[in-house]
Amino acid sequence: MGRIAVLGATGSIGASALDVIARHPDRLRATVLAAGRQVDALVELCRQHRPAHAVIADPAGFAALREGLRDAGLDTHAHCGDEALVALVEGDACDTVVAAIVGAAGLPSTLAAARAGKRLLLANKESLVLAGELLMAAAHEGGATIVPIDSEHNAIFQCLCSLGEQPGDPSRRAPAGVARIVLTASGGPFRGRSRASLADVTVEQAVAHPKWSMGPKISVDSATLMNKGLEVIEAHHLFGVGGRGDEHRIGVLVHPQSLVHSLVQFADGSTLAQLGLPDMRTALAVGLGWPERLDSGVGMLDLLAEGGRLDFEPPDLEAFPCLRLAFDALDAGGTAPATLNAANEVAVSAFLQRRIGFLSIPAVVEDTLAALPAAPAASLAQLHEADRQARRHATQALAGYGQQ
Ligand code: NDP
Ligand code: MG
Repeated sequence: MGRIAVLGATGSIGASALDVIARHPDRLRATVLAAGRQVDALVELCRQHRPAHAVIADPAGFAALREGLRDAGLDTHAHCGDEALVALVEGDACDTVVAAIVGAAGLPSTLAAARAGKRLLLANKESLVLAGELLMAAAHEGGATIVPIDSEHNAIFQCLCSLGEQPGDPSRRAPAGVARIVLTASGGPFRGRSRASLADVTVEQAVAHPKWSMGPKISVDSATLMNKGLEVIEAHHLFGVGGRGDEHRIGVLVHPQSLVHSLVQFADGSTLAQLGLPDMRTALAVGLGWPERLDSGVGMLDLLAEGGRLDFEPPDLEAFPCLRLAFDALDAGGTAPATLNAANEVAVSAFLQRRIGFLSIPAVVEDTLAALPAAPAASLAQLHEADRQARRHATQALAGYGQQ
């Protein structure tokens, strides 16, 4: 019986993971559920899935969690805070961890799962952007298997596995014969629009993704194309390609139908791709069942029903500069990706609170990267410091941008 910790259980990926787990009561069980602030939603999930442990990050929610579990007649243990979460992830309450907390807040628990040698279903891409080298090294030393859940990286994982590669082994770098990895991007809700026309787009328009149903932060990241930029850095760490001197081995193609989830090109001229309907339950089922294939509840792809077309176009870096900023941060290395990620989290949060306009997101990120040049980053402490400085600088920079 697989014992699974779902971190970010009240979110979009959390819901998809729990849906797949509930389809396989004979082999999968959610034993730990963790959330940020939504106590009532967490108690309701405990009612449905009856985990042994529930963790709320917000200390203000702890009493309500304990009482909610008691009132529901559940024997689920209530916990609070990062330390408790890390202890549960490391301990024997789970053997598989779905890392689906949003943002840098997910790093401690993701790292703990890697160090403890768990099967790590990694959706929390920000932790790889912030501390990719350390996270991959921790997974290697701890003997963890990483299955990427981001649909593009999950597609690449599947393409590499089909050749007898072992992409779950984090020690494997730049597999022989891989010429290039091409990440596909839907283009988001503003595909085809000019930069000038994006000045007054609303939060509602930005989070209305045409193909995927996701949480608010990643939906805004998809609208700015920062999501694809974070994914380029994520692919670099997971698959050992790209970065300075190796840029040509990671490409991005806009593919509005979101049916081809990414491609791997090989030295012999072969290109393998993974296709499917845009539903994260496929990637989660791959992670939960690998090397077996599990029913995920996702329907079969029918290309004729989908209009019989697969279109591709290059990304527009003029209208969506965040993608260029991410390529530059990967090239600069050191603390630059951590700075990029932290500034972006601050700017996206301000946009969602309607304190800055859409075009101010790349402006704040660019301003922060320019103010805090890349420095070498050998330790977690240095990366945390870079993250902290970038948040401080970006927060100050917000005041200068406003609704432009
Ligand atoms: P959501 O906003 O839907 O969910 C975020 C989850 O994180 C919630 O359960 C939230 O809890 C929890 N959370 C937030 N802060 C903390 C904290 N400090 N401690 C513990 N839990 C916390 O996001 P998504 O599910 O869309 O995305 C999750 C991650 O997966 C992101 O990194 C995203 O980039 C990645 N991802 C998502 C995809 C998708 O399709 N949604 C696709 C690919 C990657 P609460 O709500 O209770 O506050
Ligand atoms: Mg993705």
